[in-house]
Amino acid sequence: MFGRAPKKSDNTKYYEILGVPKSASQDDLKKAYRKAAIKNHPDKGGDPEKFKELAQAYEVLSDPEKREIYDQYGEDALKEGMGGGGSHADPFDIFSSFFGPSFGGGGGSSRGRRQRRGEDVVHSLKVSLEDLYNGISKKLSLSRNVICSKCKGKGSKSGASMRCPGCQGSGMKVTIRQLGPSMIQQMQQPCNECKGTGESINEKDRCPGCKGEKVVQEKKVLEVHVEKGMQHSQKITFPGEADEAPDTVTGDIVFVLQQKDHSKFKRKGEDLFYEHTLSLTEALCGFQFVLTHLDNRQLLIKSNPGEVVKPDQFKAINDEGMPIYQRPFMKGKLYIHFTVEFPDSLAPEQCKALESVLPPKPSSKLTDMEIDECEETTMHDVNNIEEEMRRKQAHAAQEAYEEDDEMPGGAQRVQCAQQ
Ligand SMILES: [Zn+2]
Ligand SMILES: [Zn+2]
Repeated sequence: MFGRAPKKSDNTKYYEILGVPKSASQDDLKKAYRKAAIKNHPDKGGDPEKFKELAQAYEVLSDPEKREIYDQYGEDALKEGMGGGGSHADPFDIFSSFFGPSFGGGGGSSRGRRQRRGEDVVHSLKVSLEDLYNGISKKLSLSRNVICSKCKGKGSKSGASMRCPGCQGSGMKVTIRQLGPSMIQQMQQPCNECKGTGESINEKDRCPGCKGEKVVQEKKVLEVHVEKGMQHSQKITFPGEADEAPDTVTGDIVFVLQQKDHSKFKRKGEDLFYEHTLSLTEALCGFQFVLTHLDNRQLLIKSNPGEVVKPDQFKAINDEGMPIYQRPFMKGKLYIHFTVEFPDSLAPEQCKALESVLPPKPSSKLTDMEIDECEETTMHDVNNIEEEMRRKQAHAAQEAYEEDDEMPGGAQRVQCAQQ
């Protein structure tokens, strides 16, 4: 096919269009195309010819095989190879492959052959942690617009429609307001007579099914399957189930899961956290209790013989956490966080009893002499150390600010206050 003697042909044009050197990598090409295509998109007021050229250049250079032919023999060889040259892809399709169909305010319905995309409808769906653990199906009844079946979305019995006399079929009305002696404001708004469709239907010809509205309301029941292990804010999409409208690609109905707080369990990814409070006796001498899981199974939780549980200690049970999404037979861990409740005070005889079994106190004997040499102190309770530190810092900052102009002493005072 390329057997003829290669004539000196232009094989730099495509690189120039994209503004990249001949050595450009695929990544460079992508970046260059992306930048230039946004700038020159016709929906954003760009030049359609330039936009087409960009797509053509990118289409060729992004394909290693085509690029090699182009580099060697130029554009003409490529045209022959592709059977006459007319087979370039739609520049808007190439653009959409980068940015998705929704770029440019509805995909550019102005060009006729491309359809508008209807809006997605997003609902939040409240679920309990039990729902996410066990999985559940929820039936939800929604009402939506569907294309009228009597007139197939034409709105008229005959299928005919006229140009809207209010906007001459453009769907937009320009209104001019006089703001002052030499100032006017021009505003473009969707035509109120045809609701921006540009068409009007003769009153006698209106479809009785939809009264000329082209759509009718329909009740629809959707069954939402919440699968085991799904996460808070995960989306469940029903493609093409949103409101239908003529000449429009129907949008999706999207449910966004909202997990309600649970009174006992907290979830972190695939793991579950459970709070449990032990009495001091349980912490020292052993415990057992029943934990009701999210599927109502009763788990027996118990300490090992002789084991002492310390305050704030965590323990974990494998495979009792959340099921993993789409692999529901695998589960995370269940962490139990223990709080130990100490008695507020003890009577002297209780202390004696305890001292007889607990390890002895360190250096409990001080001589009278040693005690005499010490200073007496008084301790008071600190209930919330973070709160107390915050208050102190705020106070110190205040003082530093007030004594800012007596610099030498000021800095030292801040230090003191923080001690
Ligand atoms: Zn109109
Ligand atoms: Zn109808």
